[in-house]
Amino acid sequence: MPVKMLAPRLATPKSRQGWSDRRTSRHARGYGAAWDKARERVLTRDCGICQPCKRHGILHEGHEVDHIVPKDQGGGDDDSNLQTICTEVHKAKTQAERMGQAWDEGQWFAGRGGLKSEAK
Ligand SMILES: [Zn+2]
Repeated sequence: MPVKMLAPRLATPKSRQGWSDRRTSRHARGYGAAWDKARERVLTRDCGICQPCKRHGILHEGHEVDHIVPKDQGGGDDDSNLQTICTEVHKAKTQAERMGQAWDEGQWFAGRGGLKSEAK
Protein backbone atom coordinates (compact mmCIF):
# COMPACT_ATOMS: atom_id res chain seq x y z
CA MET A 1 0.00 0.00 0.00
CA PRO A 2 1.42 3.37 -0.93
CA VAL A 3 0.41 4.98 2.34
CA LYS A 4 3.86 6.35 2.96
CA MET A 5 3.89 8.11 -0.35
CA LEU A 6 0.76 10.03 0.44
CA ALA A 7 2.09 11.50 3.61
CA PRO A 8 4.25 14.25 2.10
CA ARG A 9 1.42 15.48 -0.10
CA LEU A 10 -0.91 15.82 2.85
CA ALA A 11 1.45 18.05 4.72
CA THR A 12 0.13 21.59 4.90
CA PRO A 13 2.39 24.39 3.82
CA LYS A 14 4.29 26.02 6.63
CA SER A 15 3.52 29.41 5.21
CA ARG A 16 -0.10 29.29 6.34
CA GLN A 17 0.65 31.89 8.96
CA GLY A 18 1.93 34.15 6.24
CA TRP A 19 -1.54 35.07 5.01
CA SER A 20 -1.85 38.66 6.02
CA ASP A 21 -4.99 39.77 7.70
CA ARG A 22 -5.81 43.30 6.63
CA ARG A 23 -7.78 43.97 9.74
CA THR A 24 -4.85 43.10 11.91
CA SER A 25 -2.51 45.44 10.13
CA ARG A 26 -5.05 48.24 10.07
CA HIS A 27 -5.55 47.92 13.77
CA ALA A 28 -1.83 47.76 14.28
CA ARG A 29 -1.63 51.20 12.66
CA GLY A 30 -4.15 52.55 15.11
CA TYR A 31 -7.19 52.48 12.86
CA GLY A 32 -10.01 50.66 14.53
CA ALA A 33 -13.79 50.64 14.41
CA ALA A 34 -13.93 54.24 15.59
CA TRP A 35 -11.83 55.30 12.64
CA ASP A 36 -14.09 53.41 10.25
CA LYS A 37 -17.05 55.36 11.59
CA ALA A 38 -15.29 58.70 11.44
CA ARG A 39 -14.20 57.91 7.91
CA GLU A 40 -17.75 57.13 6.83
CA ARG A 41 -18.95 60.35 8.46
CA VAL A 42 -16.37 62.50 6.75
CA LEU A 43 -16.93 60.96 3.33
CA THR A 44 -20.65 61.56 3.71
CA ARG A 45 -20.17 65.10 5.02
CA ASP A 46 -17.94 65.98 2.08
CA CYS A 47 -20.27 64.22 -0.38
CA GLY A 48 -17.32 62.11 -1.45
CA ILE A 49 -15.68 65.14 -3.03
CA CYS A 50 -11.93 65.61 -2.67
CA GLN A 51 -11.64 68.75 -0.52
CA PRO A 52 -8.14 69.97 -1.40
CA CYS A 53 -8.97 69.76 -5.11
CA LYS A 54 -12.34 71.39 -4.52
CA ARG A 55 -10.58 74.35 -2.90
CA HIS A 56 -8.60 74.68 -6.08
CA GLY A 57 -11.50 74.51 -8.43
CA ILE A 58 -11.37 70.84 -9.30
CA LEU A 59 -14.37 68.72 -8.55
CA HIS A 60 -13.79 65.04 -8.36
CA GLU A 61 -14.28 62.15 -6.03
CA GLY A 62 -12.05 61.32 -3.14
CA HIS A 63 -12.07 57.92 -1.57
CA GLU A 64 -9.69 58.49 1.30
CA VAL A 65 -9.83 60.47 4.50
CA ASP A 66 -6.91 62.63 5.50
CA HIS A 67 -5.81 64.28 8.73
CA ILE A 68 -5.57 67.96 7.82
CA VAL A 69 -3.06 68.46 10.63
CA PRO A 70 -1.06 65.22 10.80
CA LYS A 71 -1.39 63.23 13.97
CA ASP A 72 2.29 63.47 14.74
CA GLN A 73 1.97 67.25 14.53
CA GLY A 74 -0.75 67.30 17.12
CA GLY A 75 -3.74 66.82 14.85
CA GLY A 76 -6.70 65.04 16.34
CA ASP A 77 -9.13 62.45 15.11
CA ASP A 78 -12.15 64.71 15.34
CA ASP A 79 -14.11 65.45 12.21
CA SER A 80 -12.91 69.04 12.03
CA ASN A 81 -9.41 67.76 11.37
CA LEU A 82 -10.52 65.27 8.76
CA GLN A 83 -11.24 65.75 5.10
CA THR A 84 -12.04 63.68 2.07
CA ILE A 85 -9.07 63.48 -0.23
CA CYS A 86 -8.13 61.75 -3.47
CA THR A 87 -5.30 59.27 -3.70
CA GLU A 88 -3.07 61.61 -5.66
CA VAL A 89 -3.15 64.53 -3.24
CA HIS A 90 -3.05 62.20 -0.27
CA LYS A 91 0.10 60.59 -1.63
CA ALA A 92 1.81 63.92 -2.24
CA LYS A 93 0.81 65.22 1.18
CA THR A 94 1.96 62.08 2.97
CA GLN A 95 5.23 62.18 1.10
CA ALA A 96 5.88 65.80 2.07
CA GLU A 97 5.09 65.02 5.68
CA ARG A 98 7.36 62.01 5.65
CA MET A 99 10.22 64.13 4.39
CA GLY A 100 9.59 66.60 7.16
CA GLN A 101 8.32 69.31 4.86
CA ALA A 102 5.37 71.47 5.60
CA TRP A 103 2.56 70.62 3.25
CA ASP A 104 1.82 73.66 1.14
CA GLU A 105 -1.35 72.81 -0.65
CA GLY A 106 -1.49 75.99 -2.69
CA GLN A 107 2.05 75.55 -3.90
CA TRP A 108 1.47 71.95 -4.82
CA PHE A 109 -1.55 72.80 -6.93
CA ALA A 110 0.27 75.73 -8.51
CA GLY A 111 3.12 73.42 -9.40
CA ARG A 112 0.79 71.09 -11.19
CA GLY A 113 0.09 73.64 -13.88
CA GLY A 114 -2.60 72.49 -16.27
CA LEU A 115 -5.26 71.70 -13.74
CA LYS A 116 -5.82 75.30 -12.75
CA SER A 117 -6.26 76.60 -16.28
CA GLU A 118 -9.97 77.02 -15.75
CA ALA A 119 -9.45 79.41 -12.84
CA LYS A 120 -7.44 81.88 -14.93
ZN1 LIG B 1 -8.28 65.46 -5.48
